[in-house]
Parts: sequence; structure tokens; C-alpha cells
Amino acid sequence: MIKKKGIIVAIDGPAGAGKSTTARLLAEKLNYDYIDTGAMYRAVTLFALRNDIKHTETEQLVKLVSSLNFEFKNNGTEIFVNSENVSEQIRSAEVSSKVSDYSKIAEVREILIQKQYEIGEHGGIVMEGRDITTAVFPNAELKIFLTADLDVRAYRRLIEIRNKGQKIDLENVRNNLETRDKIDSSRDVNPLMITEDSIIIDTTKLTVDQQVEIIYNKAKEIIKSLNLHSHHN
Ligand code: C5P
Repeated sequence: MIKKKGIIVAIDGPAGAGKSTTARLLAEKLNYDYIDTGAMYRAVTLFALRNDIKHTETEQLVKLVSSLNFEFKNNGTEIFVNSENVSEQIRSAEVSSKVSDYSKIAEVREILIQKQYEIGEHGGIVMEGRDITTAVFPNAELKIFLTADLDVRAYRRLIEIRNKGQKIDLENVRNNLETRDKIDSSRDVNPLMITEDSIIIDTTKLTVDQQVEIIYNKAKEIIKSLNLHSHHN
């Protein structure tokens, strides 16, 4: 029997629900790896824009995506593509406004889903995105759908962006989240949806610590019932 490193925690939800922060802190507590799959879709978008490839130009897009090598560093908080640290650039307003169009393309998703599967297949991972519970790890031991009211998500994201020194107003942030949610939920391939076996957590009135704690306790329960030991002891 192959002993897994731990369970797979799959987290999906709309934009700005706090998936990244929650997943990162949860992974720290569990001593698991953390993977932000949105960063990969954002990186594809950044490179497509640099190379003047439109989202409709499938053939060129596939060539591009196949040429990209993704590495996560610093506990999953930084992404390197072909050895270049693009962690800042993938958060630009331009990438944010175009990423959902590139993410609609089935051929792009197929390549990224395969890479994500390979990163997480041995377990001991917290992976978040839009289709982790449905397409990447439909058999994950723990599935979470993290959500919050649009206004609260927009406000939290506004603070986050302003803290980085970028200028933007609430209306713009809100519109971007709303538009992305619409495209991400209605696309033909791997749309954002809630699986029957997902635990829905509405973070509108929760603190980050509270939402992490809820998922951590669930994960611990499952780990205990499966008799898996966390891999550092
Ligand atoms: O997570 P984040 O908001 O940074 O993701 C950016 C975009 O990447 C999403 O709006 C969505 O279009 C796309 N995405 C996706 N599938 C994932 C993760 C992200 O389509 N698993």
C-alpha cells in the first residue's frame, strides 16, 4: 500500500471569498502544501497578453501554455513561471479583467488541470480555485465551498489592493468580482458550482481565524478517521 502524505482539501468559491488566505493558513496548520490555482490561470493570461495572443486563438494559446513551467515558492505565496517571479504582475487590473476569458478555453483548462492533479495527487495538500472539487479532485477527502456576500467580498478585496499601494475604487472592484463570477459560473467547461458533498461556509460574518478553524477541525476529524499521521511526526 502506498502511504499518502495526507488528505486532499479542495476549496472552491467565488472571487474574493478569502480562499487564498484561508487555504494558506490551513495548510500551515496542517503542515500541508498550499496551491492557488487561480495564480496559474492568471499567469497564463499575463503571458498571453505579453505575446499578443487573444483568448480565441486556441492553437497559439495551447502552444504557449505547454511552454510554461510553473513553480510555487514561499509556502505557495509566490509563483514562478519559466523561472520568472510573476507574483505581483498577475494581480494587475488588466490581468484581473481578462483572466476569466482565458479560463473559459477548454484546451487551456485541460493542461492546467493535469498539472494541478500531478502536484496534489499524493495528498497532503490544500488546493483552491473554481473547479477543484469538481474537476481536479472530485474524490478529495474534504471539499469546501467558501463564499460571502458580494459587498463584503468587494470591500475585503479593496482593502487588500489598497494595502499594496494600488489605487482603485470599490465600484471597480465590485464590478470585476461580479463579472468574473458570472463568466466562471456560466462557462461550458468546469464551471464554478457547489457539489453535493461540499461543506458550504459563508464567511460574511466570520473572521479569517474562525473560517480556518472550522475547516481545520473537519480536516482533523477526517485524518483521524482515516488513521493518517501528519507527515512531520
Ligand atoms: O482565484 P482567482 O480569483 O485569483 O482566480 C482568477 C480567475 O482564474 C478566476 O476568476 C477564474 O476565471 C480562473 N480560475 C479558474 N479555475 C480555477 C481557478 C481560477 O477558472 N481553478
